Amino acid sequence: MRLLSASLTIAAILGLAACETTPAQAPVETAAASADYTQLMADLRILSADDMQGRDTGQEGGAKARQYIVDRLEAMGIAASSMGRLQPWEAQGRSPDGPKTFNGVNILGLIPGTRVSDKYIVVTAHYDHVGVRDGHVYNGADDNASGVATMLELAKRLKDSPPEHSVLIVALDGEERGLLGAKEFVEAPPVPLSSMVMNINFDMTARADVDNFLWVTGTYQHPEFRPLLDQIPAHGSIRLAFGKDRPEDTGSDNWVFASDHGAFHRAGVAFLYFGVNFHEDYHKPSDDYERVNPAAFQSATELAIEGFRRLDAGLSR
Ligand SMILES: [Zn+2]
Repeated sequence: MRLLSASLTIAAILGLAACETTPAQAPVETAAASADYTQLMADLRILSADDMQGRDTGQEGGAKARQYIVDRLEAMGIAASSMGRLQPWEAQGRSPDGPKTFNGVNILGLIPGTRVSDKYIVVTAHYDHVGVRDGHVYNGADDNASGVATMLELAKRLKDSPPEHSVLIVALDGEERGLLGAKEFVEAPPVPLSSMVMNINFDMTARADVDNFLWVTGTYQHPEFRPLLDQIPAHGSIRLAFGKDRPEDTGSDNWVFASDHGAFHRAGVAFLYFGVNFHEDYHKPSDDYERVNPAAFQSATELAIEGFRRLDAGLSR
């Protein structure tokens, strides 16, 4: 409880600071959604369970997580991409012991669009985490079982109600080792980079209650996206905030290259990143399912999906 109240104080400070860079948004809270979140919570729980061994790239736990995600995509009837379901790669990355060669595998799905099927929105979430260190399993519930679960929920909704652009659903490997899977994806993409309208990256979507924001990074680089997202109302106690992307945002306060969207940005593909602020369990063995507030995660997921819908409907007009 002591830790909890400390984090609430920090959240209050962060919340105040964040207001300076966020737009005037109606502080209206929407009614609780009636959506069924059973599968969303199951995906989060299963992907962050101890038997996934921290989902390390090239390790047994990573392979187990991959199989789970492939099975989920198949069960939803989501097609493979033009280059198949899996994109294996080998790359040099970072490890606590220095540079190391990693063998990773990206997972690809395709949902055809109804209005502009020759243009793609690439939705990404990394499924790897840092594995086991000193006998501790780093479960990475927020980082990034949550983003994968949010992406799978989006995929399910898009199967029920198809998108206007074609959508590539991409679970990336090797993010924790230096955005390795994302770099491989943009170097050897299943469709030309020029046909990608944008990348939407989900990384850490669970712990939005740390400051009651789901942060959107990248509207400084891509101001054209901002009007499409500005009017999204809060969901429950969570709302979108914009920032962490300006030149004056420095160090860990600048997220432009902080996750896989950075590789898309470098390759000249427009991006937006959706993620929560840092919290006390970030990159610790305590980043567990039990620490996630279900309502906050569900609300952040709804905001991410609504963000996707508005971008999908508003772009290529
Ligand atoms: Zn991450």
